[in-house]
Amino acid sequence: MQKLQNYINGELVAPASGNYIDNYHPATGKVYSLIPDSDAKDVELATDAAKKAFPEWSKKSIQERSAILLKLVDLIERDMDKLAEAESKDNGKPIWLAKAVDIPRAAANFRFYATGILHEHTEAHSMGEEAINYTLREPIGVAGCISPWNLPLYLFSWKVAPALASGNCVVAKPSEITPMSAYLLSELCIEAGIPAGVFNIVHGLGPKVGSAITEHPDIPMISFTGGTQTGATIARTAAPMFKKLSLELGGKNPNIIFADCDFDEMLKVTLRSSFANQGQICLCGSRIFVERPIYEKFKTAFVERVSQMKVGDPSDDKSKLGAVVSKPHMEKVLSYVELAKEEGGTVLTGGHRVEMEGELKDGYYLAPTVIEGLNYNCRTNQEEIFGPVVTIMPFDTEEEVLMYANSTKYGLASTIWTSNLKRAHRVAAKLHTGIVWINCWLLRDLRTPFGGVKQSGVGREGGFEALQFFTEPKNVCIKL
Ligand code: NDP
Repeated sequence: MQKLQNYINGELVAPASGNYIDNYHPATGKVYSLIPDSDAKDVELATDAAKKAFPEWSKKSIQERSAILLKLVDLIERDMDKLAEAESKDNGKPIWLAKAVDIPRAAANFRFYATGILHEHTEAHSMGEEAINYTLREPIGVAGCISPWNLPLYLFSWKVAPALASGNCVVAKPSEITPMSAYLLSELCIEAGIPAGVFNIVHGLGPKVGSAITEHPDIPMISFTGGTQTGATIARTAAPMFKKLSLELGGKNPNIIFADCDFDEMLKVTLRSSFANQGQICLCGSRIFVERPIYEKFKTAFVERVSQMKVGDPSDDKSKLGAVVSKPHMEKVLSYVELAKEEGGTVLTGGHRVEMEGELKDGYYLAPTVIEGLNYNCRTNQEEIFGPVVTIMPFDTEEEVLMYANSTKYGLASTIWTSNLKRAHRVAAKLHTGIVWINCWLLRDLRTPFGGVKQSGVGREGGFEALQFFTEPKNVCIKL
């Protein structure tokens, strides 16, 4: 069985403990590889290597850093199919989705930051004839990057690329549930000639490896994407050490559909925004609010289309949904369906495990699920489920739907469907979310700030925001 290795000081190495954990194939429920069960000793080795590499890496010209990272982009693109197949095998998502979204976007993230540094500028503030100030932006040192399992290489690259491009060295931990694409990336980093120690990947469990990164005194900045509770644990550890923190956390996103929308386009995109990646995207719209005049029409059309979505083998191009990521996650999602029923909800379609045959019979497949009849403030509508489950609710007025939409502790993203431009702007301004999509979903420009408000996070990723996070501004004032 394949044993993954840590990537420390430019080499693939076994964990200090010599122990490994099982890595499951969600499509079949079988163990298919072994992951290093690393601990604080491995994080120590990785941090030492990163500290040693930092002076030289941070002093390289931006052209040199850019060229090395662009080599990595070429290799990711060369291995696009291999990486997409590995991502699908590790995570359960359809291969077509990994080929269309995950891996191309991982390459795009590296390319964006490898070239972005060539166009960055800093500011100068003139004080007339008296003085001039200029601002330098300096890399900080060793960045700790911790990422989740839902879009494994894509979200990993979103942290690691700006950290490296801006001249920091990195100690990173991918989710232990989906480590394979990060492991394959470490092989490509060696091939691309990334200098030893600049980028280190330590595999293993969050409470061991993740917390060792968070606690390490020589890692002054942590970029984390994951659940809100884990984010709170990290913040508690990091705050007294005055670490810089970027936290991208959970969501419970509203999808607000007004009666005057382009119905067909809305329906097509709402199927995606509800169930793409088995509903395991932090941006999925899991609470669907529909203006009453079209509620019944929407319900009939939506339920019919959802019930026809094929759940199946991730390697089959016809599968709209593959497997969810793990058995415990499948059980968690199903427990929320039971909770919804207890809370008075009616399951209109789905709500159960999909039984497969042959090799796939122990895989973690869930039917896309639509629930109605729930209050906006019940647990099902307030807590993040992070699976193929949405609720639908009618509304009558803008004020009412804004109250529903803003009622959760989360504030990541929202979607509005309307052909009334004034209303679109008015509602967007009143939504408490970091991202608002109007008549679209997941349309991403890498230059834009990405992140949430309230308990969906602290700080922003994407664009130059990320380069700013991974650097410290220094103002220099010169008396003339
Ligand atoms: P978790 O919070 O469980 O884990 C995220 C990462 O943190 C994993 O690598 C995990 O390791 C690690 N970790 C766990 N415990 C600790 C700890 N004590 N200290 C440091 N690191 C730790 O999230 P999931 O992986 O379950 O991801 C799903 C969550 O991510 C959802 O809530 C989703 O909304 C959110 N998310 C947010 C996004 C955003 O941009 N706002 C984007 C995508 C997802 P291990 O895997 O070993 O537990």
